Amino acid sequence: MAGLVRAFVFILFFTTYLVSTPQALASNHTVLVDSDSVNLTHFQMGYFVDHSGSMSFKEVRQQDFTDSTNKLSLGTGAKTTWSKIQIKNLTDQPRRLFLHHPYAYHNRQVDFYEQVGDGFKRQFLNLDQADKSPLMYRGSAIFEFPLAPGETKELYVNSVSFSHQWFSLLILDEDQSRRALLGIGAHNDIALMVGILLALVIYNFLLYFSSNKKENIYYSLYLISGCVWVALSYGLFASLFDIYGARTLSMHLTLISMPIFLILFMMDIFQTGKRFRTEHKFLQFILLLLAIDFTYGLFDIVGALKYASSLAALMMLVTISVSISLVRKGDPLAKYFLIGHSLFVLFSGVAVLFYKGIISFNYISSHGVGIGIMLESLMLAFIISYRIKMLEDIKASQDELKLLAVTDPLTRLYNRRYFYTEANYQLEQAKDNHSPLSLLILDIDKFKNINDSFGHQVGDSVIVALSDLLRLHSREGDLIARFGGEEFVILLPQTSLPAAENMAEKIRRSVENSCLDQPEGEPLNFTVSIGGVAIDTQRETIDSALNLADIALYKAKHSGRNCVRFSNVQPEPALNQALTAGK
Ligand code: GH3
Ligand code: MG
Ligand code: MG
Repeated sequence: MAGLVRAFVFILFFTTYLVSTPQALASNHTVLVDSDSVNLTHFQMGYFVDHSGSMSFKEVRQQDFTDSTNKLSLGTGAKTTWSKIQIKNLTDQPRRLFLHHPYAYHNRQVDFYEQVGDGFKRQFLNLDQADKSPLMYRGSAIFEFPLAPGETKELYVNSVSFSHQWFSLLILDEDQSRRALLGIGAHNDIALMVGILLALVIYNFLLYFSSNKKENIYYSLYLISGCVWVALSYGLFASLFDIYGARTLSMHLTLISMPIFLILFMMDIFQTGKRFRTEHKFLQFILLLLAIDFTYGLFDIVGALKYASSLAALMMLVTISVSISLVRKGDPLAKYFLIGHSLFVLFSGVAVLFYKGIISFNYISSHGVGIGIMLESLMLAFIISYRIKMLEDIKASQDELKLLAVTDPLTRLYNRRYFYTEANYQLEQAKDNHSPLSLLILDIDKFKNINDSFGHQVGDSVIVALSDLLRLHSREGDLIARFGGEEFVILLPQTSLPAAENMAEKIRRSVENSCLDQPEGEPLNFTVSIGGVAIDTQRETIDSALNLADIALYKAKHSGRNCVRFSNVQPEPALNQALTAGK
């Protein structure tokens, strides 16, 4: 937890540093063109907000313009914002310059006014028809103007936004303008972000098809919403598909659907409905508000977006509090979610302050939501894979428990219970297929003596050594079980009497010839007695077969031990012949 706090504080300082980095400003209010190459990306201008939205250009010119840089973010209260640039050509060359409005794609309307003699020349761009306008190129509005040697000229730009007002203006020569429009270096970062998000979407859909887990679907839908929103806010739709203005407005619904899917993801992955009832209620409450705003947005998107940022702030408060609560309650995934979500909240918070016009325009503030979404989605991807690992661990421990339930802890051979289940099945199979089936019982000779002479631990190692030998001699399909203390049984499918006798003898001999090395003292020899039976599968049960094998074992013990005896329950060939002859 302390590490988490430290990381958070570091990110906070880092972001504050980036946010507060001052812009390089020109020292006077006239933009000077003083070299051959013109690439004016930082300069001073003035702005005026027409709150009525209906002033004429003539009226606007009478107003006081506030000093500002060429990058502005003024919030939703500044829908009609005028910028004023005064520019002077200090070179002795006539210049053809280009005023760029690179974020024009998210505006409703952009007008350019150029001082020509005593009058003004105006160019008007309605973003709903921007795909046909010569002023619009891949999301940027461009206004071309000449500047004679020594000439000073005023330019005005009226930006009318749908909701939040933020934009920047650049003045470039033809060469720089072409470079900017060809997108050299521009949008690569956004395309990368969108690419990462899309790859995660595809991966999650595939995961969904293989695992059928709802969390993958919620996560994918969250990613898709995020992806659309990132593409939208950074002009990727404008740049790639020439889609601007009101046509992009409905896509802003993704700003509301994104937190909806995030909350559904949270509910699902933490199973809040079952495990954390109180937190679940808070999530349900915020989900309801978002759903109402989303529905409202289907009819009036601009109206819905007005509440979206306040709702987003409330949502962040709830989700962060819920994840802190889950961390405190010890949920193993919650701390990762908290880290990812805090990054999202931090960067989105910076972005919200930027959109509201409270903090200035820079890379972090204007890309805040995109960076936040990407960091959070990478963390969520980690959470999903971590959860898969957790589920696998649970499954492995369940498998281990199942194995423990059917095996003997000392030898890891099957126990008596499992033997009965499996042996009954094998007997049924053999009965149906008329295939031979045999059974052996082994008992260590004079095992009590081994225990008494060398101790219980050595006795145990003898038992383990014998079980290893049995495994070594068994074939695939043989069923070996530890039946009691030093007593073992082996069921031999597809094995008739002679083969079973061979097998038993092989085991007996190999035990006789083996010896157990002891850390101190002489190597230890031991022997086994074996009783066997070739089962009459049509008549016998496993219990009766075990009885017969036990009788045979008893005979082996009485024949001096270290030997094999079989129960001759099946009619012996000689007896068979006699019976047939007697008929
Ligand atoms: P016999 O040749 O007639 O089988 O002689 P025996 O000494 O092996 O006789 P019996 O089967 O009566 O003795 C089994 C002994 O095995 C009794 C018990 O103390 C010991 N025993 C049972 N389970 C274990 C075990 O898990 N570990 C050890 N070390 N001894 C065990
Ligand atoms: Mg015994
Ligand atoms: Mg014994």
